[in-house]
Amino acid sequence: MKCRKCGQPAVVALKRHNTAFCREHYLEFFYGQVDRAVKAYRMFARDDRILVAVSGGKDSLALWDVLLATGYQADGLYIDLGIAGYSERSKEKVVAFARARGAGLRVVSVREKYGLGIRELARQARRAACSVCGLHKRYFFNREAMEGGYNVVATGHNLDDEAATLLGNLLNWNTGYLARQAPLLEASAPNLVRKVKPLYRLTEKEIASYAVLRRIDYIVEECPMAVGARSILYKHLLNRLEEVSPGTKARFLFGFLEKGREAFAAGEEEVQLKACAICGQPTTADICSRCRTLRRAGVKL
Ligand code: SF4
Ligand SMILES: [Zn+2]
Ligand SMILES: [Zn+2]
Repeated sequence: MKCRKCGQPAVVALKRHNTAFCREHYLEFFYGQVDRAVKAYRMFARDDRILVAVSGGKDSLALWDVLLATGYQADGLYIDLGIAGYSERSKEKVVAFARARGAGLRVVSVREKYGLGIRELARQARRAACSVCGLHKRYFFNREAMEGGYNVVATGHNLDDEAATLLGNLLNWNTGYLARQAPLLEASAPNLVRKVKPLYRLTEKEIASYAVLRRIDYIVEECPMAVGARSILYKHLLNRLEEVSPGTKARFLFGFLEKGREAFAAGEEEVQLKACAICGQPTTADICSRCRTLRRAGVKL
């Protein structure tokens, strides 16, 4: 197969675009997709300070790499969840990436802060690990961004992640989540920071190709807590549709963003946010769910 742009041997074939590219033109395509996402949603500008949430996996490290390679001011934030083995291995990848590029990195350790890892916190609070993890990630994204003077937090969510989330939200008619599912979430209260997903136009496979071409050393294993997650089933189902009809995932997600989301957003009542009495972060209750979960787990606040 030949590169569509220059006719040299292609290294990546893109079925959904019915095309193929050599290394140079694949990178150009990839940067173009990120640029399109950033501009379409006005995610950030050159003078913004971006905090990239990095897990050590391919998506978040590829995102950090793209932002650095295209001249943005981007530092990393690694949240050490205290999951034995997996957390040490993923942290090593992140630290090595930052060191090799001379990039700034902030590290937060859940175990150092609460004396327990995410798995134990969830068990003691009698809640699912991923929901407890989500609460803490959101908290640390905001807190670290505010403390470090960053304007925006960027995450590595890709097209597959977003399409799977959309499918799950539709199957369960989670209208509130559907109203808010977007590549950009504005800071809607003090102490909140804008959140963006610059890779939402790119699939997992496309990001893996980018990571290989850029020689990014990432952790291949998934978080052990992800085993059995519904989102994995939704991804399999969407991949099956994609095999039969390339481009399905993109049509599904982009169509929703262009034509569907507004309808859900219009039906949503505006929620009144106030500061959590313990941590000060915005919440609809007196005490936010992160602080309530920590209390249930017996952590002194
Ligand atoms: S799989 Fe669950 S516990 Fe692991 S990082 Fe994702 S949300 Fe957190
Ligand atoms: Zn080429
Ligand atoms: Zn709180």
